[in-house]
Amino acid sequence: MNKRIFIYSNESETSKKTEKKLRQKLDKSGYIVLNHYDENADLLVCIGGDGTFLEAIHRYDFPSMPIIGINTGHLGFFQEIMPSMLDDFIFNYSQGKYALQPLSTVKVTVRTKNGTHEHVGLNEVLVTGDSTRSIHLNISIGGSFIERFSGDGILIATPAGSTAYNYSLGGSIVDPRLKILQVTPIAPMNTTAYRSFTSSILLPSDLSLGIVPDHADDPCKLCIVYDGVSIEYTEIEEIEVSFSDIVVNLLRFENYDFWTKVKSKFL
Ligand code: NAP
Repeated sequence: MNKRIFIYSNESETSKKTEKKLRQKLDKSGYIVLNHYDENADLLVCIGGDGTFLEAIHRYDFPSMPIIGINTGHLGFFQEIMPSMLDDFIFNYSQGKYALQPLSTVKVTVRTKNGTHEHVGLNEVLVTGDSTRSIHLNISIGGSFIERFSGDGILIATPAGSTAYNYSLGGSIVDPRLKILQVTPIAPMNTTAYRSFTSSILLPSDLSLGIVPDHADDPCKLCIVYDGVSIEYTEIEEIEVSFSDIVVNLLRFENYDFWTKVKSKFL
């Protein structure tokens, strides 16, 4: 049966031109290009930058099908190919000359007086205040109390997200083959008045991070930001951040190498 492909594109002129060209080429090669998203499609193509890629996976609720990105954006870390490589893409895809790169995700569960809310991030989850005041968080790892954090917030990044906000905060770049979460403090206060870790902490996939806001911070109001999407919660009782079972499968061609990509984008 002919493979069914859905294309998601941002609104830039280059993306729209690339989408039109790709549709024609896929049609000619016998693929069915869907006009509406279908969770049973064989492939999702994302045209844009990393922001568009993140937007697509959230809009379609973390699709389980393979995804390939075409970079018309700025950085394009998730994106595998450039608009000039459409023929190579179709040829390699048709020949099965590709591998899937599984990317793990992070889950945040926020328990408030009014209910429980869950969000998933591919890059990261960020727990922060309203940026004008420091926040105080009681942090536990695997159920054991570790520290009372004071500062601007903490960021919990997946390996895929280690090259995004995490990197700007001085966190380490992590090979996505490692199953870890990286917890990085944002402007931690480390004085005789407050004591916080100042470096990142790495957690294995079976340990979760517990966060209880300091109840002196009335009314326990915090922002939870996942992949750039921000939601404010009040009357928070507890926040749990852990590995999620959801995996995003990126389609990578034979010459893909994570560290070569890091070098080409950062050095
Ligand atoms: P944005 O603020 O427009 O994008 C921030 C930049 O991060 C863009 O250049 C984007 O690439 C790049 N990026 C996204 N995911 C990446 C990854 N996994 N590895 C390397 N670079 C990545 O917001 P957005 O495009 O909607 O992306 C949301 C992400 O922005 C968040 O998940 C967070 O990680 C990041 N962010 C970074 C900072 C910071 O570094 N100070 C602050 C806030 C948010 P493209 O140019 O290809 O889109």
